[in-house]
Amino acid sequence: MILRRDPAYLAIPKPYGRLCALQIEGVCTRNATTWDAIIPLAKGGMHTLDNMQPACRECNSSKGDRFIDEL
Ligand SMILES: [Zn+2]
Repeated sequence: MILRRDPAYLAIPKPYGRLCALQIEGVCTRNATTWDAIIPLAKGGMHTLDNMQPACRECNSSKGDRFIDEL
């Protein structure tokens, strides 16, 4: 379990060299600057690095609290 305050958690993916993991068609900028929770936090997902993947802001807000296969 990694707390939100943990530096590893706070290390938001760098804008360069971090590809968005979601790549939602027509939305994605490919430029990951946020973390997306693979298991949505609203559905019991944890703030742990193994539940986080880099995502661009556009994909992240499109996905919201859904699983990637619910899009
Ligand atoms: Zn994206």
